[in-house]
Amino acid sequence: MDIVLSKEAQTWQKTAREYADEFLQPHEVEAELNDGVLPEDITKRNKRRAVELGFTAIDVPKSHGGLELSMESQVALWEQLGRVTNALSWCFPEPQSWMFDACSEAQIEKYILPMMRGEQKDCYAITESGPGSDIAGLEATATRDGDDYLLNGEKWYVTSANFADYFWFQAGLPDEDDEALFLVDQGTHGIEIVANPKFSHTYAAHHPTYLFENVRVPASQRVGNAGDGMAFTHSWFRHERLMIGARSCGAAARLIEEAMSFANNRIIDGAPLSEKQAIQFMLADSVTELHASRLMTYDAARSADRGDDVKTQHSRCSMVKLYVSEMANRVADRAVQIFGGRGYMRENVAERFFRELRVDRIWEGTSEVQRLIIARSLLKRGLDGM
Ligand SMILES: Cc1cc2nc3c(=O)[nH]c(=O)nc-3n(C[C@H](O)[C@H](O)[C@H](O)COP(=O)(O)OP(=O)(O)OC[C@H]3O[C@@H](n4cnc5c(N)ncnc54)[C@H](O)[C@@H]3O)c2cc1C
Repeated sequence: MDIVLSKEAQTWQKTAREYADEFLQPHEVEAELNDGVLPEDITKRNKRRAVELGFTAIDVPKSHGGLELSMESQVALWEQLGRVTNALSWCFPEPQSWMFDACSEAQIEKYILPMMRGEQKDCYAITESGPGSDIAGLEATATRDGDDYLLNGEKWYVTSANFADYFWFQAGLPDEDDEALFLVDQGTHGIEIVANPKFSHTYAAHHPTYLFENVRVPASQRVGNAGDGMAFTHSWFRHERLMIGARSCGAAARLIEEAMSFANNRIIDGAPLSEKQAIQFMLADSVTELHASRLMTYDAARSADRGDDVKTQHSRCSMVKLYVSEMANRVADRAVQIFGGRGYMRENVAERFFRELRVDRIWEGTSEVQRLIIARSLLKRGLDGM
């Protein structure tokens, strides 16, 4: 069921598949049974190899020494990394192209280029308990104080904060009746972890709640101008929603392969389980939905490469995130069913994906929020604008 990809995308697809198979997949069960954590030498080796292969430079402009890959190639890469559980592919930082438009040269030197070299990692602090999905209603504030800003607010679910060197912190600007994004170094006085809950998946990356209390940062830490923050966050969302689609396709492909292999080898009533029509229907539905998902994910990537209208891209990324994340959850559910009791064991890939894929329907905007974005766009711009 291959989609015809460009030569560049095929190369990255192959590179990422070999990396996932050799460096990541063999360590899944070990990670699962050890709170997501791998021995330090393995973690370092995996990151080193990812940097050597250029994974940290795929979305960096050539003008800054990056590879500036097409989105099609980036999707091809992330689809293969999505085959692996326990977020083992999160072992390298990911500078994104919009950061080079958003940040000053000094910020790029200090924060973004070190990510490309694998020396620093970021984390994103947007969500708050009150506004939740409604990020336009954020309550955190950045108040001007001479040449500085004072940041206040509580941020929930800050993914990878336990590995991050700095935060992207989104806040309202009460004095300027606006909002903005800030770069804030970990360890700045006034930042405190107030909770570090356990979540369904078993990842080394945590999602703590942070209190920012009178955190003083120079005004030069503001990213872009007042009022730009939400547009930068939307760029981040588009990228992440597309890559959730890519990873979900990879996960679904692996689940179908593993469930099929099991069904071919499991003998029931003297014949392979795969001969039962009930099992065949589950596989047929899964592969059909995966094919549709891959077509729409690669089409959205090519829409970005063509530079289609950004509003069209925005709604397409939402459609990908909505449809493909829900597809992968259905496939994982069927895979668990095909494996039977074995599919409920944590050392089984279907069990792990069944838990792990669930959050793809929640983070980067829930399925309901994606539907709102899609519906609003349709009603405003009509079918031709989608
Ligand atoms: C593991 C994990 C990691 C995360 N990592 C990050 C991170 O790194 N940085 C970050 O900033 N955030 C992060 N998040 C937060 C995530 O983006 C939010 O959880 C998500 O956007 C939903 O917000 P909420 O949890 O406040 O849910 P709520 O907004 O409280 O929503 C609750 C329910 O109401 C529905 N709902 C809300 N509004 C509407 C509406 N208008 N119409 C219909 N239904 C609606 C939702 O779809 C959902 O079903 C993470 C979350 C999780 C679980």
